[in-house]
Order: sequence, then structure tokens, then C-alpha cells
Amino acid sequence: MWYTIGQKRALTLLQGGLQQGRVAHAYLFTGPAHVGKMTLARDMACALNCSAAKPPCGECTSCRRIQEGKHADVLEIGLGKNEEGKIKTEISIEEIRQLQHSANLPPFEGKCRVYIIDGAEGMSTEAANCLLKTLEEPQDKVVFILLTAKERLLPETVISRCQRLELKPVPIEEAKQALIERWKVPDGKADLLARLSHGSPGWAVNNIDDSQLDKYKAQIDEIITTTEAGLEERFDYAAQLATEFGQSREKVQEKLSMWLDWWHDLLLNKCKLEEKITNIDRKDILKKTTEILELSQIRETISAIIAAGEQLKLNANARLTLEVLMLSLPATRQTGMNLTTGIIK
Ligand SMILES: [Zn+2]
Repeated sequence: MWYTIGQKRALTLLQGGLQQGRVAHAYLFTGPAHVGKMTLARDMACALNCSAAKPPCGECTSCRRIQEGKHADVLEIGLGKNEEGKIKTEISIEEIRQLQHSANLPPFEGKCRVYIIDGAEGMSTEAANCLLKTLEEPQDKVVFILLTAKERLLPETVISRCQRLELKPVPIEEAKQALIERWKVPDGKADLLARLSHGSPGWAVNNIDDSQLDKYKAQIDEIITTTEAGLEERFDYAAQLATEFGQSREKVQEKLSMWLDWWHDLLLNKCKLEEKITNIDRKDILKKTTEILELSQIRETISAIIAAGEQLKLNANARLTLEVLMLSLPATRQTGMNLTTGIIK
């Protein structure tokens, strides 16, 4: 039982290696956030330790303990919160040394020790160099699996020591079917979640809960309201985003991605490709908005959103950048501007 959704190529390679006894000592799984890197790593850990005839069975003690994060031979380290609840921004050399120490011991309860390093790009230079030594001297019954969404931040020397597998975005239909069959999500909601996830099923699973999905919908409401609002409200929104940017750059980039999704949907509508839209629960408002916009306005807005995102990455003044973006949005009746010319009356 492989829990990974999609990723036929990666699965074929791993399964082929397992059947022929050609398992690499180190793997590198790359791909966007939530695409399924950790799920695949746990599947592989199960396959290496499973006691059934057709591993991974998903039911034996080893498989279950690995999936529950309780197996003594399968260790996951990564960024995120540490034991004291503080955000960890780096994987330290001490953590890698601890892994190396335990890797010298024979497996405790299974057949193979598996070390999963999530967000491997977060290793400090010393940590990466330290790991490199282990990767250069592979040991029996020890497998390292490095996961990263930012491969370019990993040292080339580490990458070259791993078997690299690139995980691709999962097609909407495949993600939708998995949500229906495995998580019993109703058809319409599964379709919406699969589209919103942009090929990263982990995002969809994290948002199955209505309260999570409602938060997402509230942000889309904000985008619709801001698009229809006058300049004052738009500038208030820019100020609010600029404040959020001070606290979390990532969250603001996520919001800009939602803006991009929304305007991409308007573009698809304008081009009569409604079946491809992401926000399928907003078909009516998308259609209505499309009718009052020119294709060129939609295109220019998309460029402006992309430009704002890029400028923020380059440390431009957040408030100014976001205000310029708000000014770039096509004027609507409420702003007192002429919709087609953009000139204030
Ligand atoms: Zn099993």
C-alpha cells in the first residue's frame, strides 16, 4: 500500500529498485511544497522495513509504527518548531551528528534504518559538510532520504551523492479521486480542493476541514471586495498587507498567489475556458467581473501582480509596492474612474 498520490514515474523507479535489490544509500526527493515528498519518504521507509510478502503492506506492525512516527529505526528531522515551541530556521551540525551516531548501530526493531531530512536545504553549511562524509561512505541497512522544495539551495556535492527523484504536480482528477476514495470528501468539495491545491495534494488534505477552507474563502472574498472597492479601501488593504509582510513574508506571497489565481480565472473566463478555472465555487462572480473587463486589463493586472511579488522578493518597500499594485488594478465604477480608460472623473 503506497499512500503517495500520483507520481507514477518516481514510484516505478523506487519499486523497481526494491524488487531488484538495488536500493540507493541516499535519495533526494524534490518538488513543490505539499506535493507528497514526505508521504513518499514514509512509504519508502515502510517498503524497506515491511514484513509482508508485498511491501509496503500498510498493515504490519512496522508499516503502522512508521506511519504513526513511532518506529525506532525511522527518524525524521527538519525545520519547523522545536521542542520548546520556537521556530527552528536551521538544521544544525549537532542534529546530523546524532543521526550519524545512530546510523552506526544496527537496526533496532526493523530491517533498515531510514533517516528522513525534511527541508534539507535548511542544513547549515557545517551540517551539510558533515552529512556529506556519511553519504560518501555508505553503510549497509542505512538509507538517507533528503526532501526539498528549494533544491538550488542545496550544495551540489550533496545532490551528486543522492539518487534524485523529482515529484511533479498531481493532475486535478487524480487528486480529486484520492480525496473522494481515501478521505471520503464529497464530490464537489473534492473537485474544488483538488483545483485549489495546484497539484499539491497535501495542501488539499490540510484544508479538508471546513474551518480551514472557510479561512481560504474569506481571503478570496477580500480579493473580490478590494477589486470592487474605491481607492481608499484599496490603500487600506495595501497597508494591512504591508503590516502582515513585516510578520510573515511567506503569507503575503501566498496571498499574492491567490490574487494571481483569481485574475488567471478571469483570464480563462474571458478566453471561454471556464472548465479550467480554479475557483469553481465562484463561477457567477467571475463571469460577472469578466463581462466588465477588457482582456488587456486582465493581462496587465496579472503582470502587475507578478511584478509586485518579484519586487517584494527583492526587498522593495512593501507598502509602496503594494500601493502601486492597488493602483494598477482596473478601475471600477465604485472608484469613480472610467473602467476602460482608468482616468479619474
Ligand atoms: Zn508492512
